[in-house]
Amino acid sequence: MKHFVCPECGNNEHREIFSNEQHEQNGKSITIHNIPTLECTACGAHSYSFAALEYVEQQKTSQSSIRTV
Ligand SMILES: [Zn+2]
Repeated sequence: MKHFVCPECGNNEHREIFSNEQHEQNGKSITIHNIPTLECTACGAHSYSFAALEYVEQQKTSQSSIRTV
């Protein structure tokens, strides 16, 4: 991800952090932890790699399929 450019400010320096995000899936609020996130060192905008987005989708699917009946 060395040549990744920030969509907000055009800066190409990022640091990798792990963020937690809350999502809503099928009317259920779920929290996804430890998402590999690129944080722009200039403006602080968060960007996700394709692998990170896949991870989020995977987590949303697996967490929302747990039934609490
Ligand atoms: Zn930026």
